[in-house]
Amino acid sequence: MNILVLNCGSSSLKFQIIDTDLDLIEKDADHQRAKGIIERIGSQSLVTLQASGKPAQKHAAPLRDHKSALDYVVRWIVSADAQIPGIRSLGDIHAVGHRVVHGAEKFTKSMIITDEVIDGIEDCIDLAPLHNPANLKGIYAARELFGLGVPQVAVFDTSFHSTMPDTSYLYAIPYQLYRRHKLRRYGFHGTSHRYVTYRYRQITGIPREKVHIITLHLGNGCSACAIRDGNSFDTSMGLSPLEGLVMGTRGGDLDPAIIEFLSHKEGMSIPEIDALLNKQSGLLGLSGLTNDMRELLEEEREHNDRRASLAVSIFVQRVKKYLGAYLAEMNGADAIVFTGGIGENSPTIRNRICSDLGWFGITIDETANASLKQGTEGAIHAGDSKVQLYVIPTNEELLIARDTVRCVKDAPRRW
Ligand code: ADP
Repeated sequence: MNILVLNCGSSSLKFQIIDTDLDLIEKDADHQRAKGIIERIGSQSLVTLQASGKPAQKHAAPLRDHKSALDYVVRWIVSADAQIPGIRSLGDIHAVGHRVVHGAEKFTKSMIITDEVIDGIEDCIDLAPLHNPANLKGIYAARELFGLGVPQVAVFDTSFHSTMPDTSYLYAIPYQLYRRHKLRRYGFHGTSHRYVTYRYRQITGIPREKVHIITLHLGNGCSACAIRDGNSFDTSMGLSPLEGLVMGTRGGDLDPAIIEFLSHKEGMSIPEIDALLNKQSGLLGLSGLTNDMRELLEEEREHNDRRASLAVSIFVQRVKKYLGAYLAEMNGADAIVFTGGIGENSPTIRNRICSDLGWFGITIDETANASLKQGTEGAIHAGDSKVQLYVIPTNEELLIARDTVRCVKDAPRRW
């Protein structure tokens, strides 16, 4: 089956076409046929389209909304220009899988999209005002384009974390606020944490219920997850993706008193403070230069930039803090898995995170770490390390495509 995987942001649309079915999943033989991204929807959009194994095509086009963007993508997919094997017309797309950020307590697994599910996703808008409306735009656009005959599936970022116990998900604020508003921690990046946990199981042959690891998704957004007995036990993001680690433009954990302080001293409104914490903080805010880790490491290395160096050090220290917390919460772990743009590609950051953790039985093999090819899977722990260290590139799109097939075929999810 050809599955169109869609990931819609407020002004962007990312897609992949993945050829998969139950048999291909079993053989781990499913594969990507095409991918692309449309940025700056609403003005002169930047379009990048690529059929697998062929060079990327870049265009500019005035695309006013998500519907026009999806229309543009689909016209390219079926065009002679794209030449995607096995796809000649709209009828060759058999189902659509959507990344949906917030499923709250309502959606603990991936769902075929019905009117009821759409209502449920709309109900979660209060909890994810930036993300869920964009995801819904993608769902509406795909419904309009493909009609109701093509099944659509929602895969939620939060659902992997639905196994967290109340001791992990409750904030220590009056309990009735949880009762009244479902105000609690939900966690995000669930599809990524779930995918690398599945790959870890494949690599090691450890059965699901014996998986006892910490996964670190370090990209532009960053989160850590403590996985106990194969399930998410705790994670660093909370009610929103703002909590936890230091990220590209989000500060992660901070004292909530800062909000009142900013409102008094800087005369800022709540939306202004929200923008400051989401878009101007983290690596960008600390360095005053960029949210891009690669550039910060370059600044540190080549110009000895003090603020770049400070931003990187605070980033690393926060990850160490969470590692310590999760090792304590779970009474140790068998492995730590690195993923996301930084986790997959930066031996320097992996090395700095794992240095001086000998007391915990964590020792990195610096040569293996430095020589691991970017974007590949591999072990980077020293022979005598009690805790194993792995780099596993994430593949959220593959997991969304596989969940879509399983939902459409009504087959059970096994991981
Ligand atoms: P997103 O969360 O937007 O999907 P990614 O997972 O692609 O982001 O991660 C982007 C981050 O990964 C950026 O900070 C980028 O600088 C960083 N990154 C990518 N490659 C490297 C590298 N070789 N060294 C250091 N950081 C890198």
